[in-house]
Amino acid sequence: MPEFIKALSDEFENIYYIEGERKGGYPYSNSMLIGDYLIDTGISSGHIRKLKRQFEITSVILSHWHEDHIAGNRLLKNAKFLCHSEDKHIVEDVDKIFPYYGLKPEDLPDFVELLEGFRMNNTKIDRTIEHEEIIEINDMRLKVIHTPGHTAGHCCFIEENSRIGFLADIDLTNFGPFYGGIDSSVIDFEESIEKLEKLNMEIAISGHKGLFQGVKLIKESLNRYKSKIYEYDERILSYLSEKNPLNSNDLIKKNIIYKKYGPWKVFEITAEKIMIEKHFEKFLINKVIEKRDNGYILS
Ligand SMILES: [Zn+2]
Repeated sequence: MPEFIKALSDEFENIYYIEGERKGGYPYSNSMLIGDYLIDTGISSGHIRKLKRQFEITSVILSHWHEDHIAGNRLLKNAKFLCHSEDKHIVEDVDKIFPYYGLKPEDLPDFVELLEGFRMNNTKIDRTIEHEEIIEINDMRLKVIHTPGHTAGHCCFIEENSRIGFLADIDLTNFGPFYGGIDSSVIDFEESIEKLEKLNMEIAISGHKGLFQGVKLIKESLNRYKSKIYEYDERILSYLSEKNPLNSNDLIKKNIIYKKYGPWKVFEITAEKIMIEKHFEKFLINKVIEKRDNGYILS
């Protein structure tokens, strides 16, 4: 068996952690194999070809529409594809990826090149999945947890007998939660993390950061991850005053979210601006700020 395919438990021998290329670091991601169901296809095309030699994959569940989780779809043409109804339209029309990141292809040629390298194409979704639906796979029960925030249709999963979970991009990385797409929501993201905290997962597979083991460790890691959102709340509020209205354009390039900008600066600054706006939406609902002219002041 190739070493990127890892059995998770002697007792539950049909559940595997499939580690993506570069340990699941972007532009790859980690997967979970449960019976003949594969969750996400971002492990790399080479890994998918090897996986197919070991296992029959009849169904693919996509946690969300992001390119690093769906890039291998084209290699699994005979499988049935499932995802949440909110993300279906983007998986079926990948030209929407740019506008959903608030970008135009000409803004970021490197991203165009990456997608072309992946040979991304549209995937027909055979069936949509909903919150708390149970997918029965042999004697296993895979429960869908709709966890919007990262994208509108983002889902996590837990196999109920083993309590092995798949976190997708509630990924517990040090970067913290990402909600820089136009279909993202910081309010939903917080609620989604709280849904996961209640699940008592024994093992959790992160989309980009390997395995987490033990109920306590997983809860603590989720809690620490959520606290990033509160750090951003404070950082953004520290710039606001009762007098001078500020908007997201005034706050970009201040490294509020990205500590430093990399080669994909255009992407990062666009995401940062969207994320700051998501915090403004939250502050407005909580009556922490109010609209004044073209910006916001403290209430
Ligand atoms: Zn994602």
